[in-house]
Amino acid sequence: MSLASVLDHIDTNLDAALNRLTDLLKIQSISTDPAHKDDCEAAADWLVADLAGIGFQAKKRPTPGHPMVVATSEGAGPHVLFYGHYDVQPVDPLELWDRPPFEPRIEETPTGPVIRARGASDDKGQLMTFVEACRAWKAVHGTLPGPITIFFEGEEESGSPSLVPFMEENAPELTADIALICDTGLFADRVPAIVTQLRGLVGEEITITGPDKDLHSGMFGGIAINPARVLARILADLHDDTGRITLPGFYDGVPPLPDDLRAQWEGLNFDHSAFLGGVGLSAPAGEAGKMPVEMIWSEPTCEINGMWSGYTGAGFKTVLPSKASAKVSFRLVGQQDPDRIRAAFHDFVTARLPEDCTVEFAPHGASPASQMSTDHPAFEQARAALSDEWPDAAAFVGCGGSIPIAGYFKTLLGMDSMLIGFAKDDDQIHSPNEKYDVESFHKGIRSWARILDRLNG
Ligand SMILES: [Zn+2]
Repeated sequence: MSLASVLDHIDTNLDAALNRLTDLLKIQSISTDPAHKDDCEAAADWLVADLAGIGFQAKKRPTPGHPMVVATSEGAGPHVLFYGHYDVQPVDPLELWDRPPFEPRIEETPTGPVIRARGASDDKGQLMTFVEACRAWKAVHGTLPGPITIFFEGEEESGSPSLVPFMEENAPELTADIALICDTGLFADRVPAIVTQLRGLVGEEITITGPDKDLHSGMFGGIAINPARVLARILADLHDDTGRITLPGFYDGVPPLPDDLRAQWEGLNFDHSAFLGGVGLSAPAGEAGKMPVEMIWSEPTCEINGMWSGYTGAGFKTVLPSKASAKVSFRLVGQQDPDRIRAAFHDFVTARLPEDCTVEFAPHGASPASQMSTDHPAFEQARAALSDEWPDAAAFVGCGGSIPIAGYFKTLLGMDSMLIGFAKDDDQIHSPNEKYDVESFHKGIRSWARILDRLNG
């Protein structure tokens, strides 16, 4: 009965919630631009005042960069930490906006009303879904829904330089039973999802040197080793004919896909033709026998991100190059160890070097995959709550990219994260005319109310 009252309260007060979001969207909190330092402070102040107004102990917390906002509430039940970011991307090219980016307005579109402004979807609209759910809960119950820590960052769009030091200095205060991160999207237009696995990344640049200077391919071609040929052969050796990666030990720590997850993923009916069709492709090119969603969520990859050697300008030059280089990256899953994979890659390249060739390596980044332990009861409770709100059942999904905050929560604070977001692919985040669907905002608020209700059992 009380959940129904909270949901009713959300429905009848949607206009007021949209007005509050409008106020927040007017603040030009572009974190990367020093000219907007005061605006970032103002956005943090606005959030502190708003959270204090509904009963949180809320404080703006200084960092060497833009401040964090930390707010807490007390109570019984599981302790959740909610993360979002109040900073936004720059707005240029300004001339491509139909209206000024910091003058939010509700617009009717063929697919329903949207609120259009920089930050509408990424991430002010999304973080306010949780705040509004707490506000409605407080209005109906008189108390906030259990022990909650709200953690808002103001540097997410500029590389989060203060995040790790702040988390390390304030680890006990920021540690909860589970983290909720609202900065991702729906799986499909109206299909909710909880991201429970994110791939890690290892990058490496390699340069193979043969002759000590560029040579004339007429004078030296045939007798001199060509490092471009050596590099091409090594890179080609990294995959076998079935698309499997051939580095020894590469698949150590790659877990099999559990049956229940396989069933959920099959149920999503992922349309790989549409996904690939959007970039002029048609055929999945991963390992033979894997589902297309496995290829992007739960299988590791090896990709060549760049390769260069010899003469690449206009016209033609019959050069036999001295050097050949490539950038190679690996997306990691499960328990794959970034350091061991880097070492295996070095060995793989070195073992294939012919006489007279040398190699230099330059490392780029190393982060392991994040795999959440979905046996924490909060995961199934949240999935059930989302399935109650949306027309289709929610699923645990993967994310091919890397979202560093989820990794930090795990490695620095020992917390699993649920990434639950309501953005849509056409929200134009980071681009002109960013928008957030009013339906995403409304159902997002209702979703959090349902999740908080389930968590508080
Ligand atoms: Zn974001």
